[in-house]
Amino acid sequence: MKLLDGKLLSFKIKDEVKALADSYHQTPILAIISIGNNQENEIYVKNKRKACEFVGMSMLHFRYDENVSQDKVIRKIKELNKDKTINGIIVQLPLPSSFDSSKIINTISPNKDVDGLTIESQGKLFNGLDTFIPCTAKGILELFDYYKIDLEGKHVVIVGRSNLVSKPIMIECLKRNATVTMCHSKTNNLKDYTLSADILIVATHKKYLIDKTMIKKDAIIIDVGINKEDGKIFGDVNPNVEEKALYLTPVPGGVGPMTVSMLLKNTMIAYINQNKE
Ligand code: NAP
Repeated sequence: MKLLDGKLLSFKIKDEVKALADSYHQTPILAIISIGNNQENEIYVKNKRKACEFVGMSMLHFRYDENVSQDKVIRKIKELNKDKTINGIIVQLPLPSSFDSSKIINTISPNKDVDGLTIESQGKLFNGLDTFIPCTAKGILELFDYYKIDLEGKHVVIVGRSNLVSKPIMIECLKRNATVTMCHSKTNNLKDYTLSADILIVATHKKYLIDKTMIKKDAIIIDVGINKEDGKIFGDVNPNVEEKALYLTPVPGGVGPMTVSMLLKNTMIAYINQNKE
């Protein structure tokens, strides 16, 4: 079994983004909007800031209290859309339940939507048009490319059906000529599907949902899950799959660091596109 080392690859990618950012006169700027006092979100934002600084980008964090009005947040996003110095805009999810996440996200101008989550970006993705690929899906594709994993004709089983992770990766796997099966919480006999996967992608937020009895020999396992317990991080896949898998993404150190480096890559793409216009 070989690990798909997202940490290592993400450093390579960050070095490439840094070289690109250094070659331009102006510093690319990513704006992050967060609402409420969610400790986990604070950690994610801090990691994104560190990553931006590492590659020579700036990050502006607009942090709002939970009782901010939705209109005020929307006004700020519209202001950032118009601001020519801002290249990318993301909203740190999840938002507190009193906010309309979809309305807020869809205020972001598609040319600054570096998380690829607006309806316009997702519609383009669905139609095979050029757009920002959501960061986790894009990070998984980079792992496939780096480790020369060809998807053509392979059976890819995805456990999870979110717009954030699973549906974008489904579309990208189809583009690469895989045969894709989507599973979710209402799938009967999940194991019947996972056992037939050449490549199994799991994004459920259920610690160790998948174990070695549910995969076939020499399967490639992509574990997207992040489950926190007592200050430790666990995946959705039990590490005992190591006995049977050909490749496995570790948790931590697999998909997570790739997601952050893809945010930097998308921001750089946004910067380059905007400076062409
Ligand atoms: P989400 O929106 O909560 O979706 C979870 C999906 O898992 C749903 O489609 C749900 O099915 C399915 N599911 C839940 N329990 C299941 C079960 N017992 N059997 C089969 N399917 C089940 O989550 P998400 O945003 O896609 O994120 C998934 C996980 O990835 C989370 O742990 C999250 O923290 C992590 N994540 C990691 C990264 C990273 O960079 N590594 C990035 C984003 C997310 P239903 O649709 O039927 O409810």
